[in-house]
Amino acid sequence: MKLLKKERKLLLEGKTKKIYTSDNPCEVIIHYKDDITSFNGLKKNVIPDKGILNNEITTFIFNLLNRYGIKTHFIRKMNNREQLCHKVNMFPLEFVVRNIVAGSISKRLGIKEGTPILNPIFEIFYKNDHLKDPLINDHHAVFLNVISHKELSNIYCIISNINNKLKKFFFDRNIILVDFKMEFGKGKKDNQIFLSDEISPDTCRFWDKETMNKLDKDIFRIGLKKEKIIDVYMEVLKRLNK
Ligand code: UDP
Repeated sequence: MKLLKKERKLLLEGKTKKIYTSDNPCEVIIHYKDDITSFNGLKKNVIPDKGILNNEITTFIFNLLNRYGIKTHFIRKMNNREQLCHKVNMFPLEFVVRNIVAGSISKRLGIKEGTPILNPIFEIFYKNDHLKDPLINDHHAVFLNVISHKELSNIYCIISNINNKLKKFFFDRNIILVDFKMEFGKGKKDNQIFLSDEISPDTCRFWDKETMNKLDKDIFRIGLKKEKIIDVYMEVLKRLNK
C-alpha cells in the first residue's frame, strides 16, 4: 500500500532539502526546498521555485550519470519537488573537484581566479557545522574513522570518471565546469558506493564558455537579485535540454 503524504516521517532536514521515509524501507523521498545559503549558512534567503529547478537539473544529471554506468542513489523523479532515492549511509564528507581556480582555493593559495588546473584537484571537506566544514586530507578522514583508504581510492576513481564525463557534456553546451561538490553514501545491502545528494548550480561553478559569466550560486554569493538567480538556473536547465 502506498504511503499518503501525511504518513511520511521526516527523517532529516538540511539547509536545502528534506528527507522523508517512503513506503519502502530501502528508499527515501528527497524534497527540494527553495532555501539558499552560503558562507556556511551565514547568508540565507528563499528563492521561489529554486527547489523545482534544482530537482529538475539534478534529475537530468543523475539520469545521465546512471546511463554512463555510474551508481547513484537516484531512482526517479516523483513530482516537481521530489525524488525517490535509494537509502544510503552518507559519509560525512564533501568531495570537491576543481578544473579552474575559483572560490576558496583562490584565497587559500593566493592564486588568481580563472587559472586553469591541468590535473584536476580533488579536495575533501569534513561535514561538521560546529567546525565549519574544514578542509582535510585522506589521512584525517581515515583517522576520523568515517571512511577507509580503500573506499577513498574507489571514490577518487568515481569522481575522476564523473568529472571527465560532465566536463565534456557541459562544454558541448557552452558551459565550463569550473568546480563542483559531490557527496557519497554506502548502500544498505553490500556497502556499494553511491553518488548521492545533488549536482546543481547550488553545488557547481558553471561559467559561460564565451562570456565567462557566472551561471551558478555565485550569483547569490555576490548579492545579485533573486530574479537574476532564477534566470541563471533556468538558463542552465535550458542548455542541458539542448
Ligand atoms: N560547495 C558546495 N557546498 C559547500 C561548499 C562548496 O556545494 O558547502 C561547492 C561550491 O558551490 C563550489 C565548490 O563546491 O562549486 C567549491 O567550493 P569552494 O571550496 O570554493 O567554497 P566556496 O568559496 O564556494 O564556499
